[in-house]
Amino acid sequence: MAGFRTLDSLGDVAGKVALVRVDFNVPMADGAVTDTTRIKASAPTILELADAGAKVLLLTHFGRPKGQRNSTMSTSIILDGVQDVLGREVMFIPEVEGPVVAQAIGILRPGDIGLLENTRFWPGEEKNDPAFAQGIAANGDFYVNDAFSASHRAHATTEGLAHLLPAFTGRAMQAELEALDKALGNPQQPVAAVVGGAKVSTKLAVLEHLVSKVQHLIIGGGMANTFLAARGVDVGKSLCEHDLTAKAEAIMDAAEAAHCTVHLPYDVVVAKEFAANPPSLRTCNVHEVAADEIILDLGPQAVEALADVLKTCRTLVWNGPLGAFETPPFDQATVALAKTAAALTGEGSLVSVAGGGDTVAALNHAGVKDELTYVSTAGGAFLEWMEGRELPGVAALIQQG
Ligand code: ADP
Ligand code: MG
Repeated sequence: MAGFRTLDSLGDVAGKVALVRVDFNVPMADGAVTDTTRIKASAPTILELADAGAKVLLLTHFGRPKGQRNSTMSTSIILDGVQDVLGREVMFIPEVEGPVVAQAIGILRPGDIGLLENTRFWPGEEKNDPAFAQGIAANGDFYVNDAFSASHRAHATTEGLAHLLPAFTGRAMQAELEALDKALGNPQQPVAAVVGGAKVSTKLAVLEHLVSKVQHLIIGGGMANTFLAARGVDVGKSLCEHDLTAKAEAIMDAAEAAHCTVHLPYDVVVAKEFAANPPSLRTCNVHEVAADEIILDLGPQAVEALADVLKTCRTLVWNGPLGAFETPPFDQATVALAKTAAALTGEGSLVSVAGGGDTVAALNHAGVKDELTYVSTAGGAFLEWMEGRELPGVAALIQQG
């Protein structure tokens, strides 16, 4: 973690005002938070600062109010959920800058926590307006970013503030950066990447970046069909981006030049209709897919071969399910490979890092989410990192000199 300042280097914070960027953009139903994962993720950071005697002010976006106040997207709505997870009373502060915030700071005692209003109520947030960031910074003594999942955006509270106050990585941000570094930054070799999901088009940049980074590129999911088609396989009625077969070929050429082995399935699970347990379900070699069949999962031989690949690797990075895992029985390849990855991780022979919205759901479904080394719940930020891009909110935390 060279270049980053963690909370370990904070010094005495008693009575100081911490401006902590979190991502509490949580799902709600009937006025209650339905998934507290993101709040739980930042709880250690918040409680550590509060217990050290700081006055902790939480900054988050919530929904897409597009630069205007909107009572349905006020962070006051999530206050109860935040208090429940933290087990502490939290003061709601209906602004992010100015005298109302200053007054609230006067009322808060060292160790108290305040939740500021939705940062995206002000257009300066998404514009990364320096004057807006200055206004927020004026009330704080230091800044902590604990919102990796929002750090692919250069906004005032994810990027701008880091230049105006002493800036630190929160504990969740630190864990995420350390895990990502172990997976692709500075990994133990050999490295395998699993890239699955629906479409090649959403992950072209990821694939292009990975071929120069990993020894084994495992392609599954709907996107494998495009690669199979590029190799002359007739994929029938499968999801396939025929206009991208040239791109797929270029990726395979680049992989070859970089000594990266691309793994495509040689058996698949197919059906004539996309439905749960369809009567037409069968497993076949990729060359035997009929014109009226749809590829919906990798076959058992492919999964076995991929498990053997993982056994030779020290590091795995995974984004995208191998099949249409939401519909039985097309979850089998994903579940089986996830269990192999979990077992190898448990034995200590594999560092496994996974991320992506549907990937997290699939790993939960497989029951192994907690058995991998690290699972990132950041969607867009995780993908941009897999593309090898610099995330502005992370880059701003790197100390110069
Ligand atoms: P993530 O959110 O983890 O980045 P994606 O959004 O790229 O993953 O892809 C997930 C989706 O891909 C799932 O909804 C899954 O059903 C779909 N998928 C996987 N394999 C296939 C396939 N063979 N045909 C159609 N859809 C597939
Ligand atoms: Mg998705």
